[in-house]
Amino acid sequence: MPSEFDIIRQYFTSKESRADVVLGIGDDAAILNVPEHHELIQSVDTLVAGIHFPGETSPEDIAYKALAVNLSDMAAMGADPAWFTLAITLPNDDEVWLKAFSESLSLLAQQYNVQLIGGDTTHGSLSITITINGFVPVGKALTRNKAQVNDKVYVSGTIGDAALALAAWQGQCLLRDDSVSYLNKRLNCPTAQIELGLFLREYASSCIDISDGLIADLQHITESSHVGAKIDFEKIPLSKEFCSNLTDEALVVPLVLSGGDDYELCFTIVADKHVEFENALKVREFNATCIGEIESLNGVRCFLNNQEIEIQATGYQHFDDEFKG
Ligand code: ADP
Ligand code: MG
Repeated sequence: MPSEFDIIRQYFTSKESRADVVLGIGDDAAILNVPEHHELIQSVDTLVAGIHFPGETSPEDIAYKALAVNLSDMAAMGADPAWFTLAITLPNDDEVWLKAFSESLSLLAQQYNVQLIGGDTTHGSLSITITINGFVPVGKALTRNKAQVNDKVYVSGTIGDAALALAAWQGQCLLRDDSVSYLNKRLNCPTAQIELGLFLREYASSCIDISDGLIADLQHITESSHVGAKIDFEKIPLSKEFCSNLTDEALVVPLVLSGGDDYELCFTIVADKHVEFENALKVREFNATCIGEIESLNGVRCFLNNQEIEIQATGYQHFDDEFKG
């Protein structure tokens, strides 16, 4: 049976080697170099089995999602991700599981050029905590609190895919065979919008990643900025897989407005930069859609066929009724 140290040596020794890591895994702490004229951006997220993912999720998908949701926080801040730590609590020392988990984690880390620089390994119910660090030139970070009246509200990609996959997994609807893999990938392996976040440093007045649901997350922007927002349901971008699967009309609105886990970015663009932004978007081939605007009346309102949709106070239900965090 491998010891804690064997596990760390075998599965959690980073394969990446960034020049700004003076000392990585193996000592009491890591030593790191923050580039000149930059601020360190740091975020932590925990995934708990049965709360944030179903118990039977594959180790590859758990590792992917644990790092991807942290990378997504970097994207939302306009940060360039650099280093992460992994605190993992394991129910046993299943080496097949550990191998699959660590290989998936390492693959994604290499893809984004982020280095594992330390962590902690303990015994108990499965839980994964990743702390991620990135950089932003001083004063350039994207925050939630600077949206202004008349700014345009945008979202990247398409909305609702992850929530639809989750609803199907919960037995609330059936998915067509030709879209199961796309939708499950959207739920289990979300893409962090790092490049878009970096691009938005020059344009966005506020930004957030959509983890809890479009309305709930846009509300974080409006509350922090002391403004309100009005969005058009018809303008919200939906994937063809989402549209071709929804036979139950009653599910569409809650999935799109309150379903989470898409990890797309929701951001605001100052009205007079809007045309310049749209042109730059096309040149860079980023996929983002204007869905509404910021107004002075507090709260978030969504209209469908010119009628205000009554938005459920509670977000879409996750794996159980407990606090999801
Ligand atoms: P300490 O007792 O000083 O906290 P540990 O024995 O917990 O040290 O860890 C030894 C080294 O291995 C440290 O550098 C720590 O950061 C690293 N480490 C432990 N667990 C992990 C993990 N799951 N992933 C990456 N590095 C880890
Ligand atoms: Mg320790």
